[in-house]
Amino acid sequence: MSAVADLTIAGIRDGFRAGDFTAREVAETFNANVAGARGLNAFLVETPEHALAAADLADKARAGGEELKPLSGVPLGIKDLFCTAGYQTTAASHILEGFVPTYESFVTAKLFGAGAGMVGKLNLDQFAMGSSNETSFFGNVISPWRRNDGGNAALAPGGSSGGSSAAIAARLVPGATGTDTGGSIRQPAAFTGISGIKPTYGRCSRWGIVAFASSLDQAGPMARDVRDCAILLETMAGFDAKDATSLDLPVPAWEAGLSADLRGKTIGIPKEYRVDGMPAEIEALWDKGIAFAKDAGAEVIEVSLPHTKYALPTYYIIAPAEASSNLARYDGVRYGQRELPDGANLQEMYAATRAAGFGPEVKRRILIGTYVLSAGFYDAYYTKAQKVRALIARDFEQVFSKVDLLLTPTAPSAAFALGEKSDDPVAMYLNDVFTVPASLAGLPAMSVPGGLDSHGLPLGLQLIGRPLDEQGVLNAGLAIEQRAGFTARPDRWW
Ligand code: GLN
Repeated sequence: MSAVADLTIAGIRDGFRAGDFTAREVAETFNANVAGARGLNAFLVETPEHALAAADLADKARAGGEELKPLSGVPLGIKDLFCTAGYQTTAASHILEGFVPTYESFVTAKLFGAGAGMVGKLNLDQFAMGSSNETSFFGNVISPWRRNDGGNAALAPGGSSGGSSAAIAARLVPGATGTDTGGSIRQPAAFTGISGIKPTYGRCSRWGIVAFASSLDQAGPMARDVRDCAILLETMAGFDAKDATSLDLPVPAWEAGLSADLRGKTIGIPKEYRVDGMPAEIEALWDKGIAFAKDAGAEVIEVSLPHTKYALPTYYIIAPAEASSNLARYDGVRYGQRELPDGANLQEMYAATRAAGFGPEVKRRILIGTYVLSAGFYDAYYTKAQKVRALIARDFEQVFSKVDLLLTPTAPSAAFALGEKSDDPVAMYLNDVFTVPASLAGLPAMSVPGGLDSHGLPLGLQLIGRPLDEQGVLNAGLAIEQRAGFTARPDRWW
């Protein structure tokens, strides 16, 4: 594998500018890596020509002495939840198979406008519903990591952005887009030893991203390190009049603002996150993170977020409620697949299309969602969940009057084996216990690699910040990254 594939986005950007290599060489390297790792099933569509075209433009610009763009020469993977003009966008569902958008999502338009090219569309959990990538209609992604004890079970790359996390960990792309509704950037990042940040709700436009739960969905970058996340987020964020929840605020210069000096910062350790049954290795990782934060100059104190235990049930009412409404649009008329049994009328066509087009997890969410929104149960479930969501947000607000950031593990376990939880939706939902609270409160949150467990698998630490304080989150992430010195990478075994 070419050494270029080991470079970070910053390394590619700077090396390209310095004339160390051409953008075409970079694109060809990653295109070849994508083609050589099909066994991971990380990509649903390969788009080598897109990456090459962007690279040729970058090379031409450099040769002509033109000013280069922030991502000139950088190839990326795009989660197949982002609409890409002229390229199939499926949300890993059968119902959207064959759907080729005529328009570009806001976020991908910004990335491509900044000079990035696309090597392909990345696999994910169907409609971003899942924590293991196993709900994809096109088969699960396999994590490039393996346990070091000879256990050969294929591992989950996390979900829903499992294609993104696997591709980055396997050096098929230096960075990728992810989306996070309840943890889908952070948990897969943790499972694969990479970094990812979900910005404050409203930082990145949702326009052109297939909707799951609109009050929670946020796009964000996934990459090998904190600096690369800052670089990508600077391009992905920004106001968009086409998204009514987009924040009309300037985008800070996060990369230039990076500092690993945490002196003067107070970091809270929420005691309710010490959940029953948490493995000792996760506790130990958390303690290590606390020591890193102190070493970087932060004061660390214990804090309380009393409504934490209601976060998962609240999320698993609100997210399916919104999903059931958002997914009503897939009717066999407007997009993708249609099932038209002989002699079927319109209603029967809708029913047949949706029965064949949605996978079991998506159907489960639609059923739960329509149930909690139904006339007889609306107040008992949906209204109650909205009230609890406000209490969870208030917990954070109160704690952020005392501390600048919160530090927790990202997930209660390392990567589990494919198949281990796929028959038990509740066990799967429990894996989101540490990520959903920040989603419900719309807060910026990041996962950075903290170390390896005794099986040689990556574990992630999560930083949660005040609304709009991505800089604080990135800086604390950087302080941890520098001290964790995480250099482990998966063997090339696939
Ligand atoms: N695992 C969570 C779910 O299944 C979160 C998914 C996400 O963030 N898109 O809903």
